[in-house]
Amino acid sequence: AHTVAVRAGRTPDPVTGAIVPPLAQTSTFAQNRARLAGPPAAAAAQQFTYTRASNPTVAALEEALGALEDAPPAVAVRSGMAAITTLLLSFVETGDRIAIARTVYGGTVRLANEILVPLGIEPTFFDPTDTGAIEDALAERPRVVLLESPGNPTLELADIADLAARVHEGCEALVAVDNTFQTPIGLQPLDLGADVSIYSTTKFIEGHDATLGGAIVTRDVRALERLRRVAKSIGCIQAPLDAWLTLRGITTLPLRFERHSTSAAAVAAWLERDGRALAVRHPSLASFPQRHLARRQHLAAGAGRERGAARRRLHGGVVTFEAPGGAEGARAFVDALRFILAAENLGAAETLITHPATMTHADVPAGLRAEVGVTDAMLRLSVGLEDPADITRDLARGLEAAAAAARAEGVVAGGTWA
Ligand code: PLP
Repeated sequence: AHTVAVRAGRTPDPVTGAIVPPLAQTSTFAQNRARLAGPPAAAAAQQFTYTRASNPTVAALEEALGALEDAPPAVAVRSGMAAITTLLLSFVETGDRIAIARTVYGGTVRLANEILVPLGIEPTFFDPTDTGAIEDALAERPRVVLLESPGNPTLELADIADLAARVHEGCEALVAVDNTFQTPIGLQPLDLGADVSIYSTTKFIEGHDATLGGAIVTRDVRALERLRRVAKSIGCIQAPLDAWLTLRGITTLPLRFERHSTSAAAVAAWLERDGRALAVRHPSLASFPQRHLARRQHLAAGAGRERGAARRRLHGGVVTFEAPGGAEGARAFVDALRFILAAENLGAAETLITHPATMTHADVPAGLRAEVGVTDAMLRLSVGLEDPADITRDLARGLEAAAAAARAEGVVAGGTWA
């Protein structure tokens, strides 16, 4: 994976020899005369015409994103939401159903409920850890089954190989895994039987809080053609500069993802040892309910796409926990931080903290939030690349403030002090 991350999509420029792919910051490419007047073969030889259709810098990114999953060039689009929208508009029509795992990014729930339902496309939200619920959702014959593993923000995992096998046995649906949290370095959905991997490259893949981006990766060439045609038609192709920055981010993705994962494991262990935070979750913890699945499904450091090696598994950079003192405690926690930044993003070099109930998941109906366990006390920490000691020092400030708020309110998470 390290070699692919550094080299894929980066053939030196044939004209100048530039090692870094040139930034083709242009909307339009001059047409050669042969294309205008000549036979169709001459037209085909002119690869680039207009950036909404394709652009060399975007194509370099697409080649690298595909190579990371042993797939043909991906389709790179303007954001993670553009990727999910392009996928659904490519394969779903009015009257179709889609099945969405219940723990997904709030924007995905909003897209389904506010944009797709009025178009006559009905979503079913299912529990991906419950085989009965999976079978019920599949009995409705969805066209697309979309899930995240780990899910945002609860880190609930889905057994992708098992789910993909059930889907492919029972119906014709496409299985799409939003792999934003694990990236191809930590999880290879296509190897596990998924048809499509989806990304918000805004997160770990670009990794520097500098761009929005999305990608769709599949080994199915016909599906790719359809996706590319829809992206061109609705006009959501990635912009050249953002593609250039994202490609640069990929160069260090394996290194960064390994560091994010080890630091997150250290921070989660520290939080658990400290004892004041409640319900600390990270797949590296012995207390994580699905740790065996995590160990089986996630890739090992430096092992490329090899699973099952007796090496350190990469479980990603996100740690979720609950502040003592409920909603008030969570607010006091975030207010007390001096180093960690409160922000909506994750997967960046800087450590970021999010209050899902009021930020990323505010548009998820309260009932669904409660069902999946997104409480008002929950905080989602994206562990960055700084020294873990600086991160835990700041977390100690947050915990101190939250514990004080809990004492003032006489509340511990969900209950009243005796
Ligand atoms: N998928 C996941 C898992 C996310 O966390 C997010 C954003 O937070 C998205 C998709 C949407 O991505 P973007 O913000 O790039 O549109």
